[in-house]
Amino acid sequence: MTEELNLEGKCMCGAVKFTATAVKPNVVACHCDMCRRWSAGPFMALNCQTVTFGDQENVGRIRSSDWAERGFCTHCGSNLFYHIVDSSDYQIAAGLLNDQSMLRMSLQVFTDRKPEFYEFANETKMMTGAEVIAMFGPPPK
Ligand SMILES: [Zn+2]
Ligand SMILES: [Zn+2]
Repeated sequence: MTEELNLEGKCMCGAVKFTATAVKPNVVACHCDMCRRWSAGPFMALNCQTVTFGDQENVGRIRSSDWAERGFCTHCGSNLFYHIVDSSDYQIAAGLLNDQSMLRMSLQVFTDRKPEFYEFANETKMMTGAEVIAMFGPPPK
């Protein structure tokens, strides 16, 4: 099954609308400290390509590390994405998608940073922060 998914989504207020494609309907939940502060909970996102925003001027971007930025709606504050700046892929927040029926949570990362007060029942792959960094970077500056 190599069929590409065509996705549409929007922020809470609708000022930001976007289209994107994804190879897999796999959602990754990140439990790291930055994601939890930013999202007020784990950040759950889908790896997307060919992301096109309807109106770029409503997309705020904050450089959250040397290699990544995070996007938000400048009107309603909805979290939009995590983006490695020299990559064309975007990690789009799963909750923005108009159709979420095909999504499945496949991976949880920074499991060693997860606080005690919640636990997902989904059966997923698990990776600690050290395992994530060993596998995915951070990319060299
Ligand atoms: Zn908005
Ligand atoms: Zn994170």
